[in-house]
Amino acid sequence: MGAGPAALCIVAELVEQGLEVTALASHTPDKPWPNTYGIWAEELESLGMESLLGHRWSNTVSYFGNGITAEEQNPTKHDFDYGLFDQVSLQSWLLKRCKDLPWNLETASAIKVLGKETEVHCKSGNTYRARLVIDASGHRSPFIKRPNHGPVFEQAAYGVVGRFSAPPVDDEQFVLMDFRPDHLTTKEKHEPPSFLYAMDFGDGIYFVEETSLACYPPMSWTTLRARLQARLAKRGVEIQEILHEERCLFPMNLPLPDRNQPLLAFGGAASMVHPASGYMVGALLRRAPALGKELALAIESAPRLDSSELARKGWEVLWSPELVQRHRLYQFGLRRLMSFEEAQLRKFFATFFRLPRKDWSGFLANTLPLPQLLIVMLKLFWLAPWDVRRGMIFGMPT
Ligand SMILES: Cc1cc2nc3c(=O)[nH]c(=O)nc-3n(C[C@H](O)[C@H](O)[C@H](O)COP(=O)(O)OP(=O)(O)OC[C@H]3O[C@@H](n4cnc5c(N)ncnc54)[C@H](O)[C@@H]3O)c2cc1C
Repeated sequence: MGAGPAALCIVAELVEQGLEVTALASHTPDKPWPNTYGIWAEELESLGMESLLGHRWSNTVSYFGNGITAEEQNPTKHDFDYGLFDQVSLQSWLLKRCKDLPWNLETASAIKVLGKETEVHCKSGNTYRARLVIDASGHRSPFIKRPNHGPVFEQAAYGVVGRFSAPPVDDEQFVLMDFRPDHLTTKEKHEPPSFLYAMDFGDGIYFVEETSLACYPPMSWTTLRARLQARLAKRGVEIQEILHEERCLFPMNLPLPDRNQPLLAFGGAASMVHPASGYMVGALLRRAPALGKELALAIESAPRLDSSELARKGWEVLWSPELVQRHRLYQFGLRRLMSFEEAQLRKFFATFFRLPRKDWSGFLANTLPLPQLLIVMLKLFWLAPWDVRRGMIFGMPT
């Protein structure tokens, strides 16, 4: 169920495994996705998929100073390539791997597990049956059960692709996080922080996006737009032409799904967003093959397994004990970070990017084995200034 990146990734694997797949979604799978997806180039290189990037930047920086003195204006250089997917190439490459499987244009409204099979009831009145249903309908799926762990922090962003009175970033530059707060009022400095994510697309076109990493309740797009305008104005930049606007809102610390339920999920519905960064597409590409193989093996070698048993096999691969532990650590880290005011947050990120590159990039991609991840977190603690250390243990007082 679904036709976003998660659905296409998992369908491609299942089709390649020779399984019989029925796909259904509220829109056709070749309808352009509304979001722009970014990724560190190395994640794609390790999969041999770097040709799917539409843009690639080597000049990649962040700003964690206060922006007031010349020294505090200096960027932190990442020296690590970042890219944006070419949406059309990614979508058509995945669809080709789905071997032109037809998608049924349906919106699922109810799901009933009958034992050996599961029934999907659609708004059209049609019903579909399968041995296993995989829900890839996104973060807000009503079908997936998960515990309630309290407030869910959401990442919100307001962005503009357009032309500007002066370049908002340097030529051929990508800015991961510009946290400089010198455009904020004293009151705003005590409100939840946000940062600029920006890039040069060439030909005088830039993408600038004011982003709130994670917040509950989420920061409004109106606030983010006002902050973006104030930030640009501080640097003497005005928006002259808007070619595209992006409004982004998705949960960062959605609890992991109940892994005993008879329905399997993949992507946003399976809480696969990285709780520390909000990224997911790399994880989809990395984790779909093992899940596809496991399901093919279970379906073919054990024809008696019912929907619940098949789903459990899937959940065991998708959320192995190791991945669950890592996810808990990331969620713990995010909760701590959300209690930081902007000055501590800047110090935290400045420290984080002082870690060796393989450490911070592995942390962000979620590719470090658990013991390594723990060591990296300890290194971060060791490097951090005292007030940040205190916040990492106890959280900041509100
Ligand atoms: C604006 C934005 C920018 C993002 N940027 C990045 C990024 O740069 N890098 C990154 O890695 N991640 C990014 N993310 C996070 C994450 O990768 C995306 O949210 C991603 O789109 C989630 O993929 P998905 O396939 O799980 O869900 P979605 O993309 O939401 O797709 C869900 C699909 O299910 C269908 N559907 C929904 N309900 C039903 C139903 N009842 N019946 C049938 N079909 C249904 C929908 O029509 C859709 O096709 C971003 C998210 C947003 C919102």
